[in-house]
Amino acid sequence: MRAAEIADQLTTVLVTEEEIHAKLEELARQVEADYEGKELLLVGVLKGAVMVMADFSRRLSRDVTIDWMAVSSYGAGTKSSGVVQIRKDLDTDLHGKHVLIVEDIIDSGLTLSWLLENFASRGAESIEVLALLRKPEAAKVEIRSRYVGFDIPTDFVVGYGLDYDEHYRNLRDVAVLAPHVYS
Ligand code: IMP
Ligand code: MG
Repeated sequence: MRAAEIADQLTTVLVTEEEIHAKLEELARQVEADYEGKELLLVGVLKGAVMVMADFSRRLSRDVTIDWMAVSSYGAGTKSSGVVQIRKDLDTDLHGKHVLIVEDIIDSGLTLSWLLENFASRGAESIEVLALLRKPEAAKVEIRSRYVGFDIPTDFVVGYGLDYDEHYRNLRDVAVLAPHVYS
């Protein structure tokens, strides 16, 4: 669905589907150049990164391997708890691998800083981050993210994989959720 179809539940559209696709195209070219001649493992963080992974990985003009990790830090609320729980671990041994973590959003950064440490301890050769969205003003820890799609305000957003209580992941655009929906 598009944002216009559920306009009563949203306040502002921050990034349209068209803008997302143009950005992913740009990021795909950068990643191709940066990893030329190297094997690359994309690790998606479930469930939010499903859309980014699907659209980004298919734009790459090269072969990659893909694995998934499920962690949770949110529950049904709209604020980061900082408590990270592994719900599904990787199937891949990271030893000697060039890993690119594919994320939907960097909010507080707590999830990613935990993941980066965790992956480093598994002996990856290199670890970088690609995040479609970032909320610079919400950062509690600095994350060095090599590829960032869009910097957005701190508001709670939904769409393009991002949910509120599992809703709105199938929204094609990224939009601010109207407060009346969650209060
Ligand atoms: P962080 O640990 O605060 O950086 O947030 C990590 C995860 O929280 C992200 O991967 C998202 O799944 C979720 N998240 C953060 N901000 C939002 C938001 O505005 N809407 C929906 N989910 C969010
Ligand atoms: Mg989430």
